[in-house]
Amino acid sequence: MKAAVLALQGAFIEHEQVLQRLGVETVEIRQLKDWQKFVSSASPSLLGGVRGRLDGGRLLILPGGESTVQLRLLKELGLFEPIRQAIADGMPVLGTCAGMILLSQGYLGTMDIRVRRNAYGRQLGSFHTTGTVEGIGDDVPMTFIRAPYIEEVLSADCQPIAEVDGHIVAARQGNQIATAFHPELDSDTRLHQLLISLQ
Ligand code: GLN
Repeated sequence: MKAAVLALQGAFIEHEQVLQRLGVETVEIRQLKDWQKFVSSASPSLLGGVRGRLDGGRLLILPGGESTVQLRLLKELGLFEPIRQAIADGMPVLGTCAGMILLSQGYLGTMDIRVRRNAYGRQLGSFHTTGTVEGIGDDVPMTFIRAPYIEEVLSADCQPIAEVDGHIVAARQGNQIATAFHPELDSDTRLHQLLISLQ
């Protein structure tokens, strides 16, 4: 199994470390040819499998960082459409913080969520708590850094899976998982394990 980690900007190295600890090979996506190589090296036996053409043994991480910068680079580098299509075709994806913003409406738009950026204000936006994530369990560490939250879930295909102070901070839609917090910055690997289990 291989995971592509979007490595244009932001907190991608920490995701690579978690995945490697869990035995998943990681590939940094910095340009279109990295993505093309990642996708075309999928195991032939898995190509054409039930979930579609592009996702055999493949996972994707959209890390935190600055969503405006990431969006601009995705478009400039020609990565926006191929990545959007792979997610739409069912490639399991975990988007954290800015990565959650990228999955939302107005960005890649593959998740039926509307997100408020910097929702906690620039000063108060960074804090740590623990909470329950549906399908994962209790006491999940949640580190928020200038975090967004989900203002609205727009369809029944998408389920909120965690709330903090009455705001939705994680959601799941099929093979897509989005968190407003940074699971890669804590030692709890359950969210990454959930991602791996989707493959
Ligand atoms: N505030 C950032 C944005 O809007 C997200 C912060 C993060 O990813 N830690 O893109």
